[in-house]
Amino acid sequence: MRSSFRIGRVAGIDIGVHYTWLLALILISWSLAQGFFPQIAPGLSMGTYWIAGVIGALLLFVSVLLHELAHSIVANARGLRVHSITLFIFGGVSNIEGEPERPQVELVMSIVGPLTSLVLAGIFYGFYMALGTSYRGGALSAVLYYLAYVNGLLAVFNILPGLPLDGGRVLRSIIWAATGSLSKATNIASTTGRIIGWLLIALGVFQLFSGNFLGGLWIAFIGWFLSSAAESSRREVSLQEQLGGVRVGDVMEPMPECVDSHVTVRELVWLNFIQHNRRAVPICYDGKIQGIVTLTDVKRLPQEKWDDTTIESIMTRSPLYTVSKDDDLAVALKLLAQHGLNQVPVLSEGRLVGLLSRADIIRYLQISQELGILRPKPVSR
Ligand SMILES: [Zn+2]
Repeated sequence: MRSSFRIGRVAGIDIGVHYTWLLALILISWSLAQGFFPQIAPGLSMGTYWIAGVIGALLLFVSVLLHELAHSIVANARGLRVHSITLFIFGGVSNIEGEPERPQVELVMSIVGPLTSLVLAGIFYGFYMALGTSYRGGALSAVLYYLAYVNGLLAVFNILPGLPLDGGRVLRSIIWAATGSLSKATNIASTTGRIIGWLLIALGVFQLFSGNFLGGLWIAFIGWFLSSAAESSRREVSLQEQLGGVRVGDVMEPMPECVDSHVTVRELVWLNFIQHNRRAVPICYDGKIQGIVTLTDVKRLPQEKWDDTTIESIMTRSPLYTVSKDDDLAVALKLLAQHGLNQVPVLSEGRLVGLLSRADIIRYLQISQELGILRPKPVSR
């Protein structure tokens, strides 16, 4: 997630915090100190409520982190790479590379999160009970009570059966196992996800008008976040489906013109970018790709230097991210998205045979949608 900073590393996984998390930290501390704690433990000083509020909010985030760590550790053990966990205003996200290939893996990976929250709720409740009645009404017992309650709430909320919630993934894995179709399962689980999102928005608006302004707004926001995330996970799978089975070689620009590394930047701009409508040009020597130079690379160089700078000094050098012409288009799109690239050279037996850009993929999608699906490409005669 962008605009987040790293705070540490646990079990080989980077832990990051998004700036919206700080807002949540303040809001939650404030609502605990001003509302929740004075209600369940009346008669304490304002300072005590604030200290308890901040501790409660921080321990809530530790709880969320443990929930996410459970997902990540299972994912890691099942061979999926986990890059990082980021805490943000609505909770935490694990940045996991790839998707589980079997429904059983998705089921286990998803269910451990809510289970962890449930166990945490039990542990905090156990401590709360162990304190005994003489401490009831004190700050410590209030914090423990809150943590038991909020972890229970996290477990229940996350097991609701709609994407992108854990329960939605559980539902998807069950339908996936039963039907053998990931896209059918995703469609159903994202539909229930959108329904849950809308219900939360309705509930939030209702609360808002019955006087609970902040709480209502909060619930409506979570509902909106869920329904849009459900929609985008449905879109992602349908995109994968549309692109799956199409080869990179069928969509790429074949035989892109290679440029010599000694050409000046001004020549490149006029002859390649402007006259031939390109945004990226491969640089080759003897058929082997040496690097790539893009509009973005040129933009970094002041115009008065264009005449006496060769593209060799501004190009991105090999090794570059590349794809093979027999690769699936869905795989290539993932590579572009993951590394924030606009285009990628296409190789066959180590030699440059084409260039695949995001624009090529979009063009394919537009034409295939307009004409109905086009594949497979006929074998050339
Ligand atoms: Zn979870």
